[in-house]
Amino acid sequence: MDTREKINGKTRVCGLMGYPVAHTLSPIIHNTLAEKMNLNMVYVPFPVAPEQVNHAIAGAYALDLLGLNVTVPHKSAVIAGLKEMDELAAKIGAVNTLVRVPGGYKGYNTDMTGLYRALLSEQIQIREKQIILLGAGGAARAVAFMCAYYGARKVYLLNRTLDKAQRVAEEVNSALSVDCIVPMRMEDYKNLPEEKYLAIQGTSVGLYPNVEDAVIRDMAFYERIHTGYDLIYKPAKTMFMKYVEQAGGIACNGLKMLLYQGIDAFELWNQCKVPEEIAMEIYQRLEKETRIHE
Ligand code: NAP
Repeated sequence: MDTREKINGKTRVCGLMGYPVAHTLSPIIHNTLAEKMNLNMVYVPFPVAPEQVNHAIAGAYALDLLGLNVTVPHKSAVIAGLKEMDELAAKIGAVNTLVRVPGGYKGYNTDMTGLYRALLSEQIQIREKQIILLGAGGAARAVAFMCAYYGARKVYLLNRTLDKAQRVAEEVNSALSVDCIVPMRMEDYKNLPEEKYLAIQGTSVGLYPNVEDAVIRDMAFYERIHTGYDLIYKPAKTMFMKYVEQAGGIACNGLKMLLYQGIDAFELWNQCKVPEEIAMEIYQRLEKETRIHE
C-alpha cells in the first residue's frame, strides 16, 4: 500500500533538515522502516536555509514533530537551539539527530554510533587497532571521535591541509582525554610505522561523478592496508576500494554507515529495536537505489 494511504490523524512526523536536501536517501530508510516496523510515522525532507535554523527547530516543536535528522551545513549550528545534549554529541560538537523531549529537542550524533555499528556488521574491530584515517572534514572528525572513543591504539589522521588535521586531533584527544590521534600531512604516509592497518577513507575524493580519483594512488600505501573502509557509497566501489582489493585487502563502502545512522535515529525516536533482518532489507533497497542513480 502507498504510505500516503496510511496517513491519518495519529501519524507522527519526522524529517531531515539540511540545505540542500533534495538528493537524500533518508526518506527511503525511515519510511520503509516505519512500514516494516508497523509504526504510524512518516519522514519528509525540509530544506532549511542557514539563517532559519533556530526558527525551524522552534517550529518543529510547535508542530509536534517527533524528531529530525540534521545534515550539512547545520550539524553544529543546531546545537544552540536545543534543550538538551547527549554527552557524546556534546563532546563531538556535532549533532545529526534531534529527539523530542519536554520543552524542546535533545541532540545526538548517530553518524558516530552508526559507523561503529556498520563496522561491527562487517566484523571490523576498533579496540587496540592501528588505524589510518584519511581526511579531517566533518565526517572524518566524527570517525576520529569514534575510533578514540572505542579504544583504538593509534589513529594516524592524514589530511591535505595539516592544520585542519592538527585541530581535529587536539579536539578529540582533549575531549576524550587520550593521545591516540596523530595528525600528519597526506603525503607523509610514507613515514607511517611499518604495520598493517585498517584505513578509513573520509575525504570527498572519489565521490561520484569523479569516480576515477583516489586521494593516494601509490600501491606501496595500499600494501599496508588489511581492510579499507570508504565513507563514500556512490560509486559502490570507489578507486580507493579497488586499490585496497588489488593489494590483497578487504574493502567496504559507506552505505552501511548511512543505514545504521538512520536506524539509530529511528530507534531513538520510536524507542524500539530494529531487527537485523529488517536492517538488511533496507540495505538492499538502498543498494538498488544507489545503483539506479549511478
Ligand atoms: P568535508 O567536510 O567537505 O571534508 C572534505 C575532506 O576531503 C577534507 O579532509 C578535505 O581536505 C578532503 N579533500 C577534498 N578534496 C581533496 C583533494 N582534492 N585532495 C585531498 N583531500 C581533499 O566533507 P565531509 O562532510 O567530511 O564528507 C567527506 C566524505 O564522506 C564525502 O564524500 C561524503 O559523501 C562522505 N560521507 C558519508 C557518510 C555516510 O553515511 N556514509 C556520511 C557523511 C559523509 P582539506 O581539509 O585539505 O580541504
